[in-house]
Amino acid sequence: MAAASERNVRAESKQAAGVNSPADATPDTSGKDFIRARIERDRAAGRYGGRVETRFPPEPNGYLHVGHVKAIVLNFGLADEYRGVTHLRFDDTNPLTEETGYVESIKQDIHWIGYDWGDRIHFASDYFERLYDWAVFLIRKGVAYVCHLTEEQIREYRGTVKQPGRPSPWRDRPVEESLREFERMRRGEYADGEATLRAKIDIAAPNMKMRDPLMYRVRHASHHNTGDRWCIYPMYDWAHGQSDAIEGITHSLCTLEFENNRELYDWFTEQLELVDPPKQYEFARLNLNYTVMSKRKLLEMIRNGIVSGWDDPRLPTIRGMRRRGYTPEALRTFVERVGVSKANSIVDVGMLEWAIREDLNYRAPRRMAVLDPLKVTITNYPEGESELLDAVNNPEDESAGTREVPFSRELFIERADFMEDPPRKFYRLAPGREVRLRYAYFLTCDEVVKNEAGEIAELRCTYDPATRGGDAPDGRKPKATLHWVSAAHAISGEVRLYDRLFQVENPLAARYRDDFMQTLNPDSLQVLRDARLEPSLAEMEPGEICQFERKGYFCMDPDTEPDAPVFNRTVTLRDTWARIQKKRK
Ligand code: ATP
Ligand code: MG
Repeated sequence: MAAASERNVRAESKQAAGVNSPADATPDTSGKDFIRARIERDRAAGRYGGRVETRFPPEPNGYLHVGHVKAIVLNFGLADEYRGVTHLRFDDTNPLTEETGYVESIKQDIHWIGYDWGDRIHFASDYFERLYDWAVFLIRKGVAYVCHLTEEQIREYRGTVKQPGRPSPWRDRPVEESLREFERMRRGEYADGEATLRAKIDIAAPNMKMRDPLMYRVRHASHHNTGDRWCIYPMYDWAHGQSDAIEGITHSLCTLEFENNRELYDWFTEQLELVDPPKQYEFARLNLNYTVMSKRKLLEMIRNGIVSGWDDPRLPTIRGMRRRGYTPEALRTFVERVGVSKANSIVDVGMLEWAIREDLNYRAPRRMAVLDPLKVTITNYPEGESELLDAVNNPEDESAGTREVPFSRELFIERADFMEDPPRKFYRLAPGREVRLRYAYFLTCDEVVKNEAGEIAELRCTYDPATRGGDAPDGRKPKATLHWVSAAHAISGEVRLYDRLFQVENPLAARYRDDFMQTLNPDSLQVLRDARLEPSLAEMEPGEICQFERKGYFCMDPDTEPDAPVFNRTVTLRDTWARIQKKRK
């Protein structure tokens, strides 16, 4: 068995490298999650020669999402911690839903998250021949049989949780007959649904998964990897554990919904008489509120044009999050913070946003951009003149230095930063009031100019030349500091603001189950086409992230045209959402 000997060689070389040194024999497992505690116990006992080998097993039927990030970080992270390795295995056992395009995108997304599988890239379909031989072995052993019940009959015969099942009429057919029939299945002599291979376990077992589960079904369909070579395809339960075994996986980590499959996982490796078989451990999936993660649901939204594609910045896909400006570092921090547990829960998306802010706060340069412009004319500033003012690039990082920002007689400020008749707690600009313009001067509003429709068209203001740089010699301090851009120097751009895709925490809750899309947030995307940006933003590259002062972190969209920058808001600066929630309570 080539794989087994290769495994031994690897196990030996690891030992030689000191992985299994005596110092590891009495590990301190305190404070470790249950998976790490288990690994340390296995290593202390010398199991698998101290080896830790994990795998990430995506089904190539869609793009990866933030839930997968958790599985990726867990599997690759464990291998890093215990000087083991991680395999990338495409679980491509279903010819109907899989596409090669997804294989490439999955590889790229894992690389982007920051991990590499080296030469350990595998496809479950590479093992079809081996799985077939193993199935024959089990038939010979008398623990698998070919059955001709229809799908519906199988379900009916299986019974319910309360009722034991009834045996299939083919359950006790002679071994020779099953061997022959299995061969005929492979040769294509049966149509879809006419024959299955089933494990002969216990039709009355309390665990429904053990009631003679299917190992193979007939599917006359082309497979992305094996073409038309096969017309029978292994079921997940039969393929997964055996693929783990072939590759020498030690700790096979999956999500909680596979808890009941574990008994079957062990049954197969035991019947195959494998030495040192891999073991399955289940952890809680990552769930986030205000979104959905299932690939099927994501695809449904894409097909219905609710979002623009797998990389729509509102989606929790790696592609979408990347386009929105989320960083791999922040995503890794986030899933590590969530941790590994045995109890399913829904994580507040606010926690993800917190991790993004934490990361970007240190690395994103500050810039000024006015998203919804209102014109300001400074009547006491000389016409036709301008000057350059120093602006700090990142107050969190002195090494980021400063840049020069042009200032002139005509500026834009944010429309929402002015109120003609301000309520008590509004400290920003209002008639007769003085505010500070960031890095520039103090500004006082003298006059409001309106258009024929009665809308505010322009503010006429005066500035105090003695306050250059933002400080007054007499020490007076305005209550508000506004961002601004010089009208003549600003570049125009488009800004996209994103909000939660759904209005409710759990769109898949029972009461919406029929139609999760009824809970969509109609305002999840707001496009501002007339933003004015400080000129230095012309030098930014697509994919780069900066902070627009007071407005949030923004990522230049990868599809930006050179003369028409588009910015996606990654996240707001403060957690307004959490504050709103608190107020409600
Ligand atoms: P989905 O149900 O979202 O379509 P899936 O489970 O079908 O996802 P797979 O491609 O089969 O997706 O998953 C690959 C690996 O990622 C599996 O080990 C799976 O358990 C894990 N995984 C998928 N979703 C999550 C999640 N939300 N949290 C943690 N791990 C996940
Ligand atoms: Mg799946």
